[in-house]
Order: sequence, then structure tokens, then C-alpha cells
Amino acid sequence: MPLRWRREAATAERTAMKTFLTVGISLFMLASGAQSQTATGQETIRIWRSGSQTSRQGPAENFTGSVRVDPLFQASAPSRASGSLVTFEPGARTAWHTHPLGQILIVTAGTGRVQRWGDPVEEIHQGDVVWIPPGQKHWHGAAPNSSMAHIAIVEQLDGKSVDWMEKVSDAQYSVPLSAPRTSTDTGVKPKPSQGAIGDFAPKLAQLTDDVLYGDVWERPELSKRDRSLVTVAALIAMNRPDQLRSHLIRARDNGVTQEELIETITHLAFYCGWPNAVSAIQVAKEVFEKK
Ligand code: MN
Repeated sequence: MPLRWRREAATAERTAMKTFLTVGISLFMLASGAQSQTATGQETIRIWRSGSQTSRQGPAENFTGSVRVDPLFQASAPSRASGSLVTFEPGARTAWHTHPLGQILIVTAGTGRVQRWGDPVEEIHQGDVVWIPPGQKHWHGAAPNSSMAHIAIVEQLDGKSVDWMEKVSDAQYSVPLSAPRTSTDTGVKPKPSQGAIGDFAPKLAQLTDDVLYGDVWERPELSKRDRSLVTVAALIAMNRPDQLRSHLIRARDNGVTQEELIETITHLAFYCGWPNAVSAIQVAKEVFEKK
């Protein structure tokens, strides 16, 4: 074949390959639901019509109880956000999980609950907007006697928007609610020691309230739940029933369950002595039976 013809044949082959690739990519984009484009290559507005997307049941390995997931929108590059409407029947909830880039929940109906690992359970209501920070272990779901629906918006990182963990046990779900926080809450708690010993020992009260609870307990390096566990363990080991009493209550508020506290005492019988454990279990019995 003369050189000129060969060059023309190669050009024709390249053109054919280009056309093939263009058609292939267009078909792929159509199939993957990418935006349609005008002749000038600009994306047009896309509307997903109400009722055009299929609901599915929240899978049993990631949810407890009856949960319906209605997809709203998929991530469309370069955007990484996707959204769905999730409806929980009373008592239904997610398993514990994390989101690599966090999550926004917009409560659209009913009353629900949300909890970050180590923090108290909080009640959420229609109209509330909840931010779950990246990588934080948490769950969300309905209240025991009310259904709850929320729009959940997440961003993908490397194609992934959630990492599922273990289920939320009935004991974890049934922990009593903490006092509701407001968006203007500064995180400054009322000062308990001022009330108890402020008149008698003002400096000790101030140190307890401002340094111990105002600073050390607020440090993010340990969750409040973990701080409660180590504090309770130390008080059991040192046989300090008066302080143990209030810290068992605080531990419950910080998300440690009654079962976990009894197990802690049982465990410590082997590390700090049987009499200390038996004294502690008496205090625990008083506290838990009083609630
Ligand atoms: Mn979540």
C-alpha cells in the first residue's frame, strides 16, 4: 500500500475509534443517569418526578425495625452529595455507623432520636436539622412511641458514604433522654458544686465546677462516656461510695448502660478486690432501683 493511502487509512481508523468512544461514553452517561446535554455541551436542568423512584426496605443487617428508604437524588459528578428520605416506624433505628464526610439530617415528620457514641441520646422533632460530623460513630431513628421521617444528605469519599457497624441494642436504645439542648446552648452546664458546697468552701466549689467539669470533662480527647467509665472504675477501686453514687447517675446520662455499669463492677472484683465490688454493687442497686 502506498504511504499516502496508509496514512489515510490510519486517519480513517482514528476517526472511527473517536466516534466509537464518543458514542460509547454518551451511552454510558445515559445509562448512569448523568445530566442530559444540549448541543453546546451545557447541562440542562433535571427533574426527578415525584413517585418516579422506587422505595426500598432498609436492609435488616443495617436497621432494626421497619424502615423505608425513598431515594431522592444520586451524586452527580463533580458533586458528591446524595439524598434520600428515610421513614422509621416507632422503635425503628439505624445500626451504629459513621459517614466519612459527615451527614445532614432534616427531620420532616414525627419525633425521633439521635446519639453520638459516648454522648447522651437526644430527641429530635419535625423541622430540626442535625449535623453528624465526619467519622463520628452514631445512630438515628424513631422515638419508641412515634414514627420519624428525615431527609438524609451525605457526601461520598472515594465512592463511599457510610460505614456500618453493630446494631443499637434495646438497652442502648432505651437509655433515658437527656435534657434537650438548644442551638444557643454554649455547652456551659449549671454549676452543681456551687449549690452543694459554694457557701461553705467557695474555692473548692469553683475548682470543681470550672476546672474539673468546665475544662477537663469537656476536653474532646476522651468522650464523656469514656470519661464516665474510667471515673466510675477509679471510684470503685478506691471504695468511694459517696462519689460513686453521683458518678453512676452521670455515667447513665453520658450513655453508659445499667448493664455495662454492673459488668464494670463485676469485672473489677478481680482487679481491685471482692469487698470493693460488693460495696459498689450496693450503691449501684440503690441508684438504679431509685431512678
Ligand atoms: Mn447517619
